[in-house]
Amino acid sequence: MRRLQATLDRIDRRGYGAYKGLQGTYDLGSFFLFIDRVQRDPFAPPSLVRVRTKENGLDPALFESPVRRVAFEDFLTRAVEAAIGKVVRGSRGLGGSGRVEIQRPSQVVLPRTSVVVSPQHVEARVAVGLPARGRTVDARAARTVLLEELPEVARRSLVPGPEGGVVAEAARLHVETVEDADHLRRQLPGLGLVAFVADGSVLPRESGTSDSPLREGAVPFEGPEELRVSVELPNRGEVFGMGIPEGVTLVVGGGFHGKSTLLSALSWGVYDHVPGDGREYVVARPDAVKIRAEDGRGVAGVDISAMIGDLPGGRSTGDFSTPNASGSTSQAANIAEALEVGTSLFLVDEDTSATNFRIRDERMRELVQKEPISPFIELVRPLHRSLGVSTVVVVGGVGDYLDVADRVILMEDYEPSDATPRARKVTTKFPPRAPVGDKDVRPPRGRRVRASSIDLRRGRRETARGRGVQTIELGRERVDLSYLEQLAEAGQTETIARLIGEFAGAGVSRGVKEVVEEELASVSERGLDSLSSMEGHPGELSLPRAQEVAAAINRARSLEARPGVG
Ligand code: ADP
Ligand code: MG
Repeated sequence: MRRLQATLDRIDRRGYGAYKGLQGTYDLGSFFLFIDRVQRDPFAPPSLVRVRTKENGLDPALFESPVRRVAFEDFLTRAVEAAIGKVVRGSRGLGGSGRVEIQRPSQVVLPRTSVVVSPQHVEARVAVGLPARGRTVDARAARTVLLEELPEVARRSLVPGPEGGVVAEAARLHVETVEDADHLRRQLPGLGLVAFVADGSVLPRESGTSDSPLREGAVPFEGPEELRVSVELPNRGEVFGMGIPEGVTLVVGGGFHGKSTLLSALSWGVYDHVPGDGREYVVARPDAVKIRAEDGRGVAGVDISAMIGDLPGGRSTGDFSTPNASGSTSQAANIAEALEVGTSLFLVDEDTSATNFRIRDERMRELVQKEPISPFIELVRPLHRSLGVSTVVVVGGVGDYLDVADRVILMEDYEPSDATPRARKVTTKFPPRAPVGDKDVRPPRGRRVRASSIDLRRGRRETARGRGVQTIELGRERVDLSYLEQLAEAGQTETIARLIGEFAGAGVSRGVKEVVEEELASVSERGLDSLSSMEGHPGELSLPRAQEVAAAINRARSLEARPGVG
């Protein structure tokens, strides 16, 4: 502590660059402080600092299994964030002076690099804006941040209570909720289900831009008798709710009756949620993929022939590339790519689908004979029969889908009912004008991607980094991920960028699925920290799914890929 103080005294009022001398490890009594990377100036990305306890006096039951440890680290990340809000004064000069931040978690619980719990210690990784007075070192303010505020944050959030400290009850609830959700999701295949929505869940969100639960006027979910399933959870005991079986499920209902909200909750059901989210016990198959139209996206060498026949000019769709896909070809590519990396459930909302992809009616068939697109309605059954992939599709306007549904959920005033028998009557009363095509589908051919087509050079440096949730920078290219509806937070984007950077840097061309699986297997073996280029603080990373990693690779505009594996 004295050494840190001495260095601060020595560099006070010197140029900001003198802060470099702080880099190192310090013993603060009950904590260690690691100053891993020091920023160059007050406006540069903040300095990277770790605070580590000297022992771990927390209840070992909170981190005794991998699931519990991830949940507990998530809990502590949020606790540190809350403590920072209470303790740190914040801005005290130019740029980020005096600010302390920890990785900002979304509503979902993910493996992250923000907090590490080991049997020996607990460590929080934070970013600190070292205080500047003008463009010089402000040693007094730095002393306050590093020697008073940071230890106080650690005292409040990383060590056992009772005065301040880790709140045991809340920590236990957090860990047990996540463990239950994980258990519930693992039961789905054995129960023949693709998703489950517990009674009492709160699905609607506060607003289109907030993932927090709607507080006022939210109607809690109450599943219909016919689809009722109960599951025994390790902590909470028996939970009741609506099970969505494998096969083709239609969600129908009038506009504004909660169809998209239900589908969206299912799409987030691939992740565990924090207590209080409202969707704690809404789970879906972990590989579920929400499919949408995304016109304008680039497509590289994707086999969309199952969905789209030969294009004008005799262009084959077995190896389809375009810098500018249409609504329907982009949606077809999204499906083919999801099948390539692997999925057992598609979630499709008519609100975000291309019209000609959804349906083609009899009159148009008569008038337009050269139509390469097989509408999705002809695909949903074969997808399940041939490939074992189920679909939940939201449909408001197209009654033809009733012919291909195994069951129909009707949403009325946010309340689901089983409308399958009524739907059967309707299809008998109004038989299909033309039988729905029902061919077999084969899986799309896998692709080999050329590693060298991803060029990481940017000036003299090589870059592969995340920019917020929705953008990845690969060299000079900015890859747009804004249509990946199941990407939860910036830490995932950053991780994806680094994984792509590793693949491109290694320069070995491989299959998309192979790249994604190997990169993620290496992360699960060596930990997210291994993606860091330096010792110590790894930056802000959270674990993405294989589906999003593949999707990001597939959206790189410079990508060259050819069918060739799988
Ligand atoms: P649809 O897709 O059927 O047109 P949405 O799912 O978009 O309907 O929902 C319409 C509106 O109702 C949204 O503002 C949504 O937040 C709200 N909403 C959805 N479900 C509920 C619910 N259970 N309780 C209260 N409001 C809800
Ligand atoms: Mg809708």
